Amino acid sequence: MRALVTGAAGFIGSHLTEQLLADEHSVVGLDDLSTGAHENLAPVLGRSRFRLVRGTILDSETVDELVSGVDVVFHMAAAVGAFVIRDRARESLMTNIHGTENVLAAAHRHGARLLLASTSEIYGKNSTVGLGEDDDRVVGSPLKSRWSYSEAKAIDESLTDCYVRESGLGAVIVRLFNTVGPRQTGRYGMVVPRFVRQALDGSPLTVFGTGEQVRCFCHVHDVVPALIRLATLPRANGLAVNLGNSSQVTISELAARVIALTGSTSSVEYVPYEEAYGSGYEDMLLRVPDCSRARELIGFRPVRDLDEIITTVVDDQLLGRRSRTAAVS
Ligand code: UDP
Repeated sequence: MRALVTGAAGFIGSHLTEQLLADEHSVVGLDDLSTGAHENLAPVLGRSRFRLVRGTILDSETVDELVSGVDVVFHMAAAVGAFVIRDRARESLMTNIHGTENVLAAAHRHGARLLLASTSEIYGKNSTVGLGEDDDRVVGSPLKSRWSYSEAKAIDESLTDCYVRESGLGAVIVRLFNTVGPRQTGRYGMVVPRFVRQALDGSPLTVFGTGEQVRCFCHVHDVVPALIRLATLPRANGLAVNLGNSSQVTISELAARVIALTGSTSSVEYVPYEEAYGSGYEDMLLRVPDCSRARELIGFRPVRDLDEIITTVVDDQLLGRRSRTAAVS
């Protein structure tokens, strides 16, 4: 197939692009290189079946032109990361809403199939253990910028659903639960690469809040094949599908595990949410997916456990440090 990957230079987008090319598909990547990085695409730059266009999903003409040449659109581009949403809330809302409007309209116009990358943030504070796709959204005030990412993605999902039901667009929505792996940067707030960097630096691991909040981390290599399967599966049309790992860990336990696996001498420092994210921040205490829909549709079963996830992030960061040192010397 011919695929467009928006956000191709991002963490998940770059792994997806690599896998699509390995599966012998052709890929056009669109990325504004805001949080993505050119170097994420180093393994595929120069390949004959790959082309990278530097541009934004807010540019409807570019989006239209690129979508016109493909069969499937993987819409991965978004403003992501708790620090990005904290510092650039308005810009993030615009990108995540208007950018997706452009991509959906173009996919509809050109009859391309679409996969929308959505998020477990959709469920907000709903702390059901085993969140199912039909479970309620429980979110705080829209005047708390913390919820704006969840709001924007909910609008994206609703709009996708309207295109499917009213206009016959072929689309699937995937809700990603804390996807982690090589190339993910901690710069925008993601906890695993942040803890790994802090542990390798020998600086304190900053646990926000009590550390009792629970997350389930899923390796990007478990997620990417599922994205490719779902994008082209007729039975998945019009559905939202959770993708994540069901194995739970508290953030304090995660910090301890990172310290143990790196052999670091770092301590753990508890930082109040206010200090980390600004006033009025609300966190989700539990975020655990029920992935039975994905299991039923495509046999989805993540196989990489937390230790493997942490280890691949450690190896990736050590490799990055070594190549930066080599470049300087
Ligand atoms: N977190 C933390 N220390 C950090 C970064 C994040 O304790 O340096 C916490 C964060 O408050 C949240 C969890 O780790 O409770 C996961 O954060 P992340 O931003 O990776 O993903 P989220 O689940 O919030 O989307």
